[in-house]
Amino acid sequence: MAKQIQAIRGMNDILPTQSPVWQKVEAVVRSAVSAYGYSEIRTPIVESTDLFKRSIGDVTDIVEKEMYTFEDRNGDSLSLRPEGTASTVRAGNEHGLLYNQEQRLWYMGPMFRHERPQKGRYRQFHQFGVEVYGIGTADADAEVLMLSNRLWKELGLTEHVTLELNTLGDNHERAEYRDALVAFLEQHKDKLDEDSQRRMYTNPLRVLDSKDPQVQAILADAPELMSFLGEESKNHFNQLCELLEAAGIQYRINPRLVRGLDYYNRTVFEWVTDSLGAQGTVLAGGRYDGLVGQLGGKDTPAVGFAMGIERIVLLVETLELTANVAGAVDVYVTAMGDNCRIEAIKIAEELRNAVPGLKVMSHCGGGNFKKQMKRADKSGAAVALIIGENELATNQIAVKPLRNNDEQQLVAREALATVLAELI
Ligand code: ATP
Ligand code: MG
Repeated sequence: MAKQIQAIRGMNDILPTQSPVWQKVEAVVRSAVSAYGYSEIRTPIVESTDLFKRSIGDVTDIVEKEMYTFEDRNGDSLSLRPEGTASTVRAGNEHGLLYNQEQRLWYMGPMFRHERPQKGRYRQFHQFGVEVYGIGTADADAEVLMLSNRLWKELGLTEHVTLELNTLGDNHERAEYRDALVAFLEQHKDKLDEDSQRRMYTNPLRVLDSKDPQVQAILADAPELMSFLGEESKNHFNQLCELLEAAGIQYRINPRLVRGLDYYNRTVFEWVTDSLGAQGTVLAGGRYDGLVGQLGGKDTPAVGFAMGIERIVLLVETLELTANVAGAVDVYVTAMGDNCRIEAIKIAEELRNAVPGLKVMSHCGGGNFKKQMKRADKSGAAVALIIGENELATNQIAVKPLRNNDEQQLVAREALATVLAELI
């Protein structure tokens, strides 16, 4: 036998048994963005490597070690997108969507990072994200958080996620804080782990979210960014907190929350869960007022987030919230005997016409009653229609419930659509 070819490590198939949960999550996403008037943007999966270097930052984990970068046939350096914000800004600048305009955008699709695969962390994964351009005030920050909060409500996750919030101030405040932090870290250099010693000069704020307990203990006395904020940044943060309270969204201020990407300023946030082990961040984002300018556009305020779809799917599965996930089939149509086959196909088609949204599977391949009922059961349908010669002679169809002990009933052909419409 020929050797089977396997999928690439860290890149998963989403199998037919798993896709209903994905579709549920995607449907909730689509209904939430639509409820807030956001428009979809779709960008290519491959971009110039420079786009990510210039936006995400040269000394971030993503650019330093996680990108899938390759040379095109004509020698250009290209990369599979590791996230969606850089591409959205690139497209917005290129098509003149951003300057002097407001845009509320969303995207959903695969992203690629060469990380060590583990539960909730893959090499191809999927993100849903929103990006709002042209609004510098805290109400836009609050809006994207309200939108995310609606996702949890619709998915039944509200009790299982919490919002962590921080502010990074503006560039000037952050630079002053950075100096103070480096000075502090230098005093404790010998007690820092290797990673933190390296980051201390390249990306010192990242030391704040080190997982090393000894580093965390040292950081208890580190200066806090909050005390470096000017009036404007403070007001922005306070207004956001006020709006969240008005919207009934609870949050925890986490002064160590910095995010791994370079482009954030002012607001940063993460929705986290403790139901998934180490990979607990399910949605993350913040304000990035400098990025549009940094990528060659005119200065435009911006705020957004990205949600990891795999982690949400895992959460829904782990918490067994799959009860209201729709199956692929509502009605399975059987045909008992050759004379009924054509009529059965017609009835199935009549139902699809009469009840939009009803999922009707027709039995194919013949076989006796037992075989057809076995298939009906396996399809996951709620009911089977039994179409035999007796039924056709009296213009009635037998409707057999498959998922409960209700009695089978005979329904007049004209009334069938009305009876089955109740299934959806
Ligand atoms: P982490 O700290 O878990 O590595 P991150 O800061 O790199 O996350 P972001 O770049 O902010 O993550 O991406 C937003 C979200 O996308 C994350 O919160 C997570 O839910 C999801 N995500 C990021 N990387 C992966 C991955 N390799 N596999 C699956 N989901 C991911
Ligand atoms: Mg990461």
